[in-house]
Amino acid sequence: MSPRGRADVPGLVERARAGEARAVARLISLVEDASPLLREVTAALAPHTGRAQVLGITGAPGVGKSTTTSALVRELRQAGKRVGVLAVDPSSPFSGGALLGDRIRMQDHAGDSGVFIRSMASRGHLGGLAWSTPQAVRVLDAAGCDVVVVETVGVGQSEVEVAGLADTTLVLLAPGMGDGIQAAKAGILEVGDVYVVNKADRDGADQVRRDLRSMIALADRPADGWEPPIVKTVAQAGQGLAELVVEVDRHRDWLRSTGELGHRRARRARAEVEAIALAALRARWGDVGGHSELDRLADAVAAGETDPWSAADRLIDSSESGGR
Ligand code: GDP
Repeated sequence: MSPRGRADVPGLVERARAGEARAVARLISLVEDASPLLREVTAALAPHTGRAQVLGITGAPGVGKSTTTSALVRELRQAGKRVGVLAVDPSSPFSGGALLGDRIRMQDHAGDSGVFIRSMASRGHLGGLAWSTPQAVRVLDAAGCDVVVVETVGVGQSEVEVAGLADTTLVLLAPGMGDGIQAAKAGILEVGDVYVVNKADRDGADQVRRDLRSMIALADRPADGWEPPIVKTVAQAGQGLAELVVEVDRHRDWLRSTGELGHRRARRARAEVEAIALAALRARWGDVGGHSELDRLADAVAAGETDPWSAADRLIDSSESGGR
């Protein structure tokens, strides 16, 4: 194994739990690299997790997600909370842990040991967001973050996907971005727990709020009794952030009192287990680039030599016999 692979996992976990930023960064790198040590890492972290409030921030590029995240972190820090930020970029194959946006975010909170900020790429990853994000959230949770903010960066598509990863999903819109139709198209009318109309210093914010209110009323949302609030912010100037935190906390209290928090976390764990199991199966049938058993069977189906059901049976059999 490489020196990287020979990490002292219990030591790393202990240092991360003590809030040591380098140990936290190292553990998240293990997640990003899909390290074989992850099994040991997650087992060691498990007893120390479940405490953090997990917030998802999503919205079209340019609405002000990074700016809002930064302002939110400031607000939470003023309340004495330890905060972790994961900027996940599903459109980028790798991040190297230091995107430009990362550095911008960092500048605002440089030298504050109560904030941990990290970018993570997930495309090309075994199971994408569902696989990597919960494990990175767990690292930050175990490291004592009271709040973990998962922000999607990069271009679109993932707005809805991120909703499954958080306890509370914040959906951002801004005037002048063709919001109504975009919101309907992207499916975000169904997934937001708290809506934010950012750039409220611009014309049209009240109109966006009114449109959003009526579109949410018509959307196919669960009839669970939660009426998503719409908060206006000027993230650039830190305005509206206190109100946003109030609404986020109100949602957390609602999640707890209704038992929905447990349901959401179980749903998340289910997706995670499924993603890990699928990744393990793929690895067993050699689907990690090159000519795999799946490719061979696909050729046979395409050539009419076998049918897809028999091929699927053979694939499952081969992964059972090909196992460890
Ligand atoms: P993201 O792509 O969603 O992360 O958006 P950014 O946070 O990078 O913001 C996009 C642009 O909008 C930047 O130029 C910000 O300075 C600007 N911006 C963010 N918040 C506000 C706001 O409240 N009012 C105005 N006028 N501009 C803002």
